[in-house]
Amino acid sequence: MFDIVLPQDSKPLAGTFDVLIVGAGPGGMTAAIYCARGRLSTVVLERNTAGGQMALTERIENYPGFPEGISGFDLTEKMKKQAGQFGADLREITTVAAMEPAGDRRWRIVTDEETLTAKAVVLAPGVEARNLGIPGEAEFLGRGVSYCATCDGALYRGKQVAVIGGGDSAVEEGLFLTKFADAVYVIHRRDQLRANKVAQERAFANPKMHFIWDSQPRVIRGEGKVEAVEYQNLKTGVVASLPVDGVFIYVGQAPNTAFLQKIVDLDEWGYIKTDPLLRTNQPGVFACGDARTTPIKQIAWAVGEGALAGIQAEKYIDLLGEPEAAAATESEATESEATEAAATESEATEAAAQSPISSEASGARGTPTGGRSAAHPGGEPTA
Ligand code: NAP
Repeated sequence: MFDIVLPQDSKPLAGTFDVLIVGAGPGGMTAAIYCARGRLSTVVLERNTAGGQMALTERIENYPGFPEGISGFDLTEKMKKQAGQFGADLREITTVAAMEPAGDRRWRIVTDEETLTAKAVVLAPGVEARNLGIPGEAEFLGRGVSYCATCDGALYRGKQVAVIGGGDSAVEEGLFLTKFADAVYVIHRRDQLRANKVAQERAFANPKMHFIWDSQPRVIRGEGKVEAVEYQNLKTGVVASLPVDGVFIYVGQAPNTAFLQKIVDLDEWGYIKTDPLLRTNQPGVFACGDARTTPIKQIAWAVGEGALAGIQAEKYIDLLGEPEAAAATESEATESEATEAAATESEATEAAAQSPISSEASGARGTPTGGRSAAHPGGEPTA
């Protein structure tokens, strides 16, 4: 059962924490703000750089509080600062090699840098760009092929580039590229964009944006660097070559969850499955953000999930000190799993897509407010 005695001194032993957060995107960073502000020793593992996909976004216009818009880099820096000032420990790593139970109701996370343990884990590993998988893509990476307009766009001043895809990323980042490039060709496999309407209107009104419809890139060619992309019209079968200096690929995303296989339940695409309170199938392990099975991938949504996951982690740790309450929560979780197992995956997905807010708000186990404030009768912790 629960044999953890919470230390009186909140200062963690080296490598041991209350909460370990994997991922420093908007979900992970929000969870960190909540946990660290709740006086839990909190470590956040950021892979290479913080911010995840958000940091690669040139201009964010749909996150509340920034009516003029804000760059992904600046928003990342603000979130980092906020988490840091409450005491969250942000550590840069390259990869998480393993996650496993460490006994005594703790989890062990092995990174390329060190081994850490924590009572609760919030998984927010995010997603990364999917490859197109055509000849020339890997060969010319960094020599004309890019997955990040924000990072590489300025290299294409006065040049001609192709953008592959028709979603929000392709269109919005394509628009960003028009600041530098003379011409941006969006090559899309259908004759309609998937991107939001505002982005579409801007793209169609921009004289530097051009669209090549119903077409699939087949090969990227060049001598030492990108010189052309060859594409095929899917309706006529005709193959054409477009001379370009750069190819920016935005054909969707894949979750960074390989290290979680056989540890937490993933869906068929590798996204992390949780219940409505963001609990995975493992006790003390929560998930939030784009790597979770969610109906939408948005910063505002990830931030909301980060708040919920952070509060759930706090609540879980509080309950570790109250064996009976914790046991009740465990049996509740088991009950809920049985109920959820009865519903088919497609029913669940459909419900989430139709009414994500109401389905979450009506979670059978009550409101997701944490027990942490009750555990701090002396009032809110200060920064
Ligand atoms: P996405 O929405 O999945 O769009 C991927 C695009 O690539 C689609 O147009 C798809 O074509 C195309 N595609 C996929 N596989 C392909 C292949 N093998 N060959 C050629 N084309 C292919 O991905 P995303 O644009 O990266 O966006 C990911 C998520 O982040 C979305 O939920 C999006 O709404 C969100 N996001 C939001 C914002 C914002 O709110 N401002 C900004 C960026 C991203 P089809 O259309 O034919 O499927």
